[in-house]
Amino acid sequence: MPLLAQTLQTIVAKIIAKSLPTSCIVCETFQDSTLCNSCASLIKSEGLLNYECCSQCGTTLEKSEVANQHCHQCEINPPNYDETYCLDHYDGRLQAALHQLKYQKRLAFAHGLTNAWNLLFANSLENTNAAYLLPVPLSQQKLCMRGFNQSWELARRIQCGPHIQKLPNALRRHHHEQRQASSNRAIRNSAIQGMFYIDEKYLHILNTKTSLFLMMS
Ligand SMILES: [Zn+2]
Ligand SMILES: [Zn+2]
Repeated sequence: MPLLAQTLQTIVAKIIAKSLPTSCIVCETFQDSTLCNSCASLIKSEGLLNYECCSQCGTTLEKSEVANQHCHQCEINPPNYDETYCLDHYDGRLQAALHQLKYQKRLAFAHGLTNAWNLLFANSLENTNAAYLLPVPLSQQKLCMRGFNQSWELARRIQCGPHIQKLPNALRRHHHEQRQASSNRAIRNSAIQGMFYIDEKYLHILNTKTSLFLMMS
């Protein structure tokens, strides 16, 4: 975007923020941002980055695993991904906002959740060598029911380096009635086997050597 247009957009955004106060997606206090400063710092201090988690899969590490930042499971049977970034705990401060987005279809919450992401992970995404950012897809049936894919609503607003291209339709998902509520990793892994595939239009650009960043929610 040209510099003048960008400056104008920033000025307009500031005027709107001051004249039309919004509420924080976590504490619901009215102010000029979708995430207030105090909730932002709480999420930052309580975030998984401050805990001893496996850098590859994100699970909490046992004492003996802390030294090399990898869980035993990833050592013996590494997953097909290199790193995991978690914005918050599953039942953390952002859970209510995420449920508002996913289940109450309140798209405005995508702005607040992305603000939180941009605030805490801007550098990680700028510095990653991923070539593409892909949202985890919904099946066509689920997409029709919900009306939007919450992962794409976050991914499209995320700030990332110009080297990362966002591809909303490259990854596809078959429809399965079975839900994946189990906390057991092996059961969850087998439940998603064969569930995802690459749309044939993208097969020529995505191959096993392509570095991807997947947005889940
Ligand atoms: Zn707040
Ligand atoms: Zn791991």
